[in-house]
Amino acid sequence: MGVLDGKNVLIFGVANKNSIAWGITQALHDAGAKIGLSYAGGVLKKRVMPLAESLNIDFVEECDVLDDAAIDRVFEKAKAYFGGRLDVMVHAVAFATREDLEGKFSNTSRAGFGTAMNVSVYSLVALAQRARALMTEGGTILTLTYYGSEKVMPHYNVMGVAKAALEASTRYLAYDLGAHNIRVNAISPGPIKTLSAAGIPGFRDMLRFSEMASPLGANVTIEDVGAMALWLCSDAGKMITGQTLYIDGGYSIMGLPLGALEALEKKQDEPPKE
Ligand code: NAD
Repeated sequence: MGVLDGKNVLIFGVANKNSIAWGITQALHDAGAKIGLSYAGGVLKKRVMPLAESLNIDFVEECDVLDDAAIDRVFEKAKAYFGGRLDVMVHAVAFATREDLEGKFSNTSRAGFGTAMNVSVYSLVALAQRARALMTEGGTILTLTYYGSEKVMPHYNVMGVAKAALEASTRYLAYDLGAHNIRVNAISPGPIKTLSAAGIPGFRDMLRFSEMASPLGANVTIEDVGAMALWLCSDAGKMITGQTLYIDGGYSIMGLPLGALEALEKKQDEPPKE
């Protein structure tokens, strides 16, 4: 018997087998949930379909989260598929243009700022509005954020600002939806090599550094995030809402990263530069 037996789950954001949303899909599926997937469309279809088939998931719907009519269509279909009741909705969607991640934050264009906020933040609000109508017996909404919301991560730029707005939106949604017994939380994983992450210049160095500088000395995996999502969706998380919860090997607790003092001492031993 699984802890999510009889629960209906709709997940947005699987792009391929490396997606965090796929780690969450597998964990919730293994716990007994009935799952529906929605993906951005286009070329991703050939990656998402075989993944869905591997778990016998037959609800797979295209949806651009910038398109309200497309969102309505997915939720209409989900209503029929799940017999009118949704228990969990996962939002693992984000986008910023490559040029806004490459240059300086101070050069962000109005259009680039708007796109990042619209796709990565407003979409949570738009999806939560539709999910609320189907969460007739309460429910759980999860989103994915990153520490770049709180601290400056070179190149994360406008996405860091979007994640700060996403975390604030999580709190406001949690306040509004609490009366319907709907919990809203943001999971904040350390860096994971995914399609989106590949768009961030220097990501490989971020990955190496976070492994080195985390108290647990390892990077998180999509399976780790899946396990945390499961815990939050289960009864164990029933009094948790509006939170941003870190799963990052402890990276975010460090004021002075591990290895920094050693690096400094090594530098002091070096002969002065000519
Ligand atoms: P991913 O590329 O696998 O997933 C991002 C998803 O967003 C993709 O499925 C993509 O199709 C979807 N998307 C983008 N624009 C869309 C649109 N207009 N409509 C519908 N879908 C759209 O990468 P990921 O790393 O698994 O990202 C999932 C979430 O996790 C994101 O919110 C990301 O910011 C967050 N996150 C990632 C990391 C990391 O290091 N990979 C760390 C912390 C948080």
